[in-house]
Amino acid sequence: MSSNDSVIKIGAGEATLSQELLDSCIHCGLCLPACPTYLATGREMESPRGRIYLLAKWQEQGGELAPRAAEHLESCLGCLGCQTACPSGVNYEAILDGARPHLAARRNGLLRMVLRFSFTEILPHYGRLKVFGSMLRTVQLLKFDSLAAKFSTSKLAFLRKLADFQMFTPVVPNHIPLPKKSWRAGTKSGAAKLFSGCVMDVFYNHVNHAALRLLVRQGNIVEVPEQTCCGALAYHAGEDDIARVLARRNIALFESAVDNDKIVVTSAGCGAMLKHYPVLLANEPQWADRASKFATRVQDLSQTLAAGNFPADTMSCASAAGPESQTKAHIVYHAACHLAHAQGVRAEPQALLSALAAGIGAHLYDLPEAEHCCGSAGIYNLLNTSLSLKVLDRKMKFIEESGADLVVTCNPGCMLQLEAGVKARGLNVKVKHLAEALDDACQ
Ligand code: SF4
Ligand code: SF4
Repeated sequence: MSSNDSVIKIGAGEATLSQELLDSCIHCGLCLPACPTYLATGREMESPRGRIYLLAKWQEQGGELAPRAAEHLESCLGCLGCQTACPSGVNYEAILDGARPHLAARRNGLLRMVLRFSFTEILPHYGRLKVFGSMLRTVQLLKFDSLAAKFSTSKLAFLRKLADFQMFTPVVPNHIPLPKKSWRAGTKSGAAKLFSGCVMDVFYNHVNHAALRLLVRQGNIVEVPEQTCCGALAYHAGEDDIARVLARRNIALFESAVDNDKIVVTSAGCGAMLKHYPVLLANEPQWADRASKFATRVQDLSQTLAAGNFPADTMSCASAAGPESQTKAHIVYHAACHLAHAQGVRAEPQALLSALAAGIGAHLYDLPEAEHCCGSAGIYNLLNTSLSLKVLDRKMKFIEESGADLVVTCNPGCMLQLEAGVKARGLNVKVKHLAEALDDACQ
């Protein structure tokens, strides 16, 4: 927000509403077909236009935000599909981000305490996170997790949430630590620092290993430095203070007097957050500049791999990998919101997938509404499970109709949501991260 905005702080937890931003919406409704919650419910107040209207009314009238209005705002996925669709350039992200701390402050006290504990005491500490992952893996190996599914109709909210958690939890793999430094003999084309992420490294550790192999194959010297959670889950839950602490910590950890290597990210959600640090720390003079320098180094893995002749190289290595790899697969690409809408990265994953499909003789089809959210949206699927499943239903309908046997995406949240959809429908469809699909073809 610019300094001459008419900004008001309103309500508990201080929503920051800008008159200028709210007035930029001309209520044309062109964003409605791009909004997954509007498509799932058909309700105006579950649309971007409706939500902007609610906030504008609140700013005008002051006082308490009505509980129903707060629910409509809470049900927003934050997917930013509306921002891409809006011809007037409404900055919906800034509008929503301004309201989120207030929504967090209204949350049930116990739930908020559990969330804040997870954001500060679990996610940023990779050692604790790995212990949590191992415990989850043991529960799954002993098949105790299937017990949780039986709680879906329980009268106790806590048990119902346990069932939801089980539904969205993939099989946790055995965690293999990433090597601190990797390279291969011969000419080096560059150097990269891998941002492994917290959710990604616990649930999809093999994706980070695949990404590392691809980066090394491209000729990079790859380091996995000390790092912490990017803060995206805390930020999108309205806990800005936690996100700021994590942002400062990551900036300091990646700053180095000797190099300025690119920071390569395998999770679209983390990448969007890391690129958002300059906005997050804009009002902190000692950090604003450092945040901007940090953000210019951040790249999604697909951006790094699409540079140079890597797509052509992928095509030739995939076609040379032998007849077993010629799967004749039907591939579709689901664009993660935080890659397409938040980072504007579209061409690179498509180029890599086209090269892959050409290399292995597979068919790459356009998925209808490929850029529409799948309903995962961080922890949205746990907080708003019923609407999340409605949004997922629409996505799965298109996947099923496409006849795909492989869905490729670039975000761990999308992967676990789509895997839950595949499991619920008993489909014979694999969900893979782009890194995994590329790496598998070149093994
Ligand atoms: S957000 Fe943009 S597209 Fe949606 S109603 Fe407002 S001006 Fe129209
Ligand atoms: S962010 Fe997504 S869910 Fe929220 S209003 Fe925009 S399109 Fe709809």
